[in-house]
Amino acid sequence: MAHTNTIAIVGDGFAAAVMVLHLLRHGIPATSLRVFGLGELGRGNAYKTSSPAYRLNVREDLPVIFTEDPLHFARWAEQSLNDYHAKHEAGYFYRRNDFGIYMQALLVSALGPQSLQQIHTRVDQIRRVNEYWVLEYGQENFIAKHVIVATGNASPRWPCPVNSQNISTHDLSTRLIENPWPGNHLIDIGLNEEIILLGAGLTALDAINALAEQGHRGRVNVISPRAIFPPAQAPWQRQRQPQWPSHLTPASLVRFMRHYLPSAPPQSSEWQCAWEELRPELNRIWQEFTDHQRKILMKRVGWLWNLYRFRAGPQTIAALEALRANGQINFTIGRAKQIMISHSKIKVLLGNGTELSGDRVINCTGPSSDPLLNQLMREGYALPDALATGIRVNAEFKVLDPKQVPWNDLWMIGPATMGSLGDVVAASAIAKQAEQLARQFTH
Ligand SMILES: Cc1cc2nc3c(=O)[nH]c(=O)nc-3n(C[C@H](O)[C@H](O)[C@H](O)COP(=O)(O)OP(=O)(O)OC[C@H]3O[C@@H](n4cnc5c(N)ncnc54)[C@H](O)[C@@H]3O)c2cc1C
Repeated sequence: MAHTNTIAIVGDGFAAAVMVLHLLRHGIPATSLRVFGLGELGRGNAYKTSSPAYRLNVREDLPVIFTEDPLHFARWAEQSLNDYHAKHEAGYFYRRNDFGIYMQALLVSALGPQSLQQIHTRVDQIRRVNEYWVLEYGQENFIAKHVIVATGNASPRWPCPVNSQNISTHDLSTRLIENPWPGNHLIDIGLNEEIILLGAGLTALDAINALAEQGHRGRVNVISPRAIFPPAQAPWQRQRQPQWPSHLTPASLVRFMRHYLPSAPPQSSEWQCAWEELRPELNRIWQEFTDHQRKILMKRVGWLWNLYRFRAGPQTIAALEALRANGQINFTIGRAKQIMISHSKIKVLLGNGTELSGDRVINCTGPSSDPLLNQLMREGYALPDALATGIRVNAEFKVLDPKQVPWNDLWMIGPATMGSLGDVVAASAIAKQAEQLARQFTH
């Protein structure tokens, strides 16, 4: 049977939850919604973690769910949490798990007596049949008129082959941590173990913070193409508005930004104030660029952009500094080419011929590619975006078909819209998308 008025939301993470919240606020009844996903709505990859060491990388006033009430989370946290370690001169950096609790509290309050139906499954395929979308999962399907894809960041996969002959599955999954986001692997780690981290971004910093909190005494070997971690969040405020030139190209954009940023180090408040003053216009500028210009820009400064956009909570950087001071952090420049696990040790071979060995490897290389988006592209419902990181959407979040024509009943929000729309990774940017998309359902 076709659920003609139903809005199917594929995904059960943060984006799906804010979508539900904003649709409810626009008067769409919960009975018209179906959420698809295996987990607790609102938690997703970021906020279902079991580790208290995984903290938000933004201060308390930045995860904004409702534009008209930007301090909603800050107030809730102050009233509801006893997290004495959250406080820092740069703001309060709460635990990600607590933010998941906040999302659930918001849903409970928004739903009131209504109940929301979640189908606890992953959607394997989305196909078009006449004027409907058919969501297929296992042997079953669900037919909907409107579909919102909110599948988030696909779980990390090993970036290189893993050679694991004669090793038990249990040994494999505990000594080789392919997806560290849930954080449940941490308690098994012995204090003197030699740890290898692949990657030096925020996930690696989360692992380091967790190891430090556990009193880790062993060495932590970090493998990364560049020997640099993201900086800590400093206290910052937007004070000025940059006077952007018109008709920017990637080269003139980079020149303008370089000129605007002070010569102070990126860890400083002065630098971060200027950086954050530049950010609000970047999505508009990105959307005005052609595919070719977007590719050039990311090739030239993509790594720097990712480094400074994703700054870490100060507690996390303090943990890194503590391990560094003990001589426990060792950086090796390169990329993993192969991982070999034996009963005694794990070896990681790098592209430049270097070999490292350790007791455990944690994969901190970031999201992999999303099988559902791949299916949509493979079967001719969607196009890859300019960076081939997601599928192409327009400014109204409508998925574009291969002729670049927007579907009127298929939308996508969340990090996979980044190639089309710009900087859409942080919780507040995604909540804003949901807020804007919900308005389309009331017109
Ligand atoms: C580890 C991590 C930490 C982060 N920390 C912060 C932070 O501190 N501050 C911040 O602002 N942002 C942070 N982010 C950014 C993050 O992108 C957003 O905050 C937000 O969580 C993304 O929401 P989402 O719903 O798009 O993805 P998710 O919350 O990951 O949810 C997607 C959900 O969809 C499910 N799913 C995927 N495919 C299917 C399918 N085919 N069928 C059904 N279900 C499916 C997944 O299992 C997952 O549960 C973090 C991201 C990660 C990964």
